[in-house]
Amino acid sequence: MRIARAQTFELRIPFTDGSSGLGLMPTAWTHLDMVLLRLETEDGLVGWGDGFAYGCRSATHAALRDMVLPQVLGAEVTNPAEFMRTLQQRLHLQGRFGITSFALSAVDIALWDLAAKARDTSVAALLCAQAGTTARTRLPAYASLVRYGDPALVDRFTRKACDEGYACIKLHEIELAAIEAGRAAAPAPIRLVTDVNCNWTPDQAETLMVEMHRMGLYWVEEPIYPPDAAEALGRLQSRHRVSIASGENAATVEGFAAIAKTIDFLQPSVTKVGGISEFVSVCELASAHGKRVMPHSPYFGPGYWATAHLMAARPECELFEMLYIEPQDWLDSRIPLPRHGELSLPDGPGLGFEPDPALLERHAA
Ligand SMILES: [Mg+2]
Repeated sequence: MRIARAQTFELRIPFTDGSSGLGLMPTAWTHLDMVLLRLETEDGLVGWGDGFAYGCRSATHAALRDMVLPQVLGAEVTNPAEFMRTLQQRLHLQGRFGITSFALSAVDIALWDLAAKARDTSVAALLCAQAGTTARTRLPAYASLVRYGDPALVDRFTRKACDEGYACIKLHEIELAAIEAGRAAAPAPIRLVTDVNCNWTPDQAETLMVEMHRMGLYWVEEPIYPPDAAEALGRLQSRHRVSIASGENAATVEGFAAIAKTIDFLQPSVTKVGGISEFVSVCELASAHGKRVMPHSPYFGPGYWATAHLMAARPECELFEMLYIEPQDWLDSRIPLPRHGELSLPDGPGLGFEPDPALLERHAA
């Protein structure tokens, strides 16, 4: 397929989450920033991509527009993974992770959407055909709560998520009292997790991991900085007998080589890691090391849909991450949202993502 046209969209969609808006981001987090890519082949097929853009929307867009797309327009693509490896090599001096990888991820996702549509099949079915797997139709999800920093709010939203049928709840709390409030609101057998976003010092981690073991957390995510300190993470995991998860900020399968040896859960993020191609490679790596994949997917554009297709096709993937917020609009109202802690994948060709043009206009940044 020859790529004939490309169009990019910078979007900013307001959301509510019941929190103070402070915590996870350097400033109050009130909008979902997105960079979407629409690729069109000379035959008129359309594929959608998604590059990570929280806190970096303009940068991701500029990298896509100025560095990456000039290498894509006019290209004849038969195999997305091979094409993207070539592109990574051509652009490696601009960086092999971060912004460059976010922009490359958008292209890769759009190419997989196109490749599946060209065969009149879903991305999940195409991935299954390549891997020799059978697609799952029901995908277990967990509620990924924002950081409230207030035990009363943690209690309220944890109970709400449990009432909705989630069997696993992720907090983004870093203080013991807030995590304890989550455990009290979600007792076993509900699984509880906390995502520290690298905020504990090594000393704090040593103390708090004792408590995480006492409370039986299913995993602790990115407890310390840097999140790729494979040996230190492995030591925390084995010393405290609590699984460690990390990898949302790693790019390409090479970024996972060290942590795949030391921690239980790998967390590729399809809009960051290099798209579907690199995510698949991370699944293969996880398999080789007997590890599980817990995809990072706190977004609602094509990246959300791509993660669902990957989960359906790859048995290494265990739980789908559903960011527990309420966006003002869903770009595609058919988005497969979890019901009773599970989501069902639509059957259509490609990713299935078709945004409402009026919403692309309304939320243009
Ligand atoms: Mg995380």
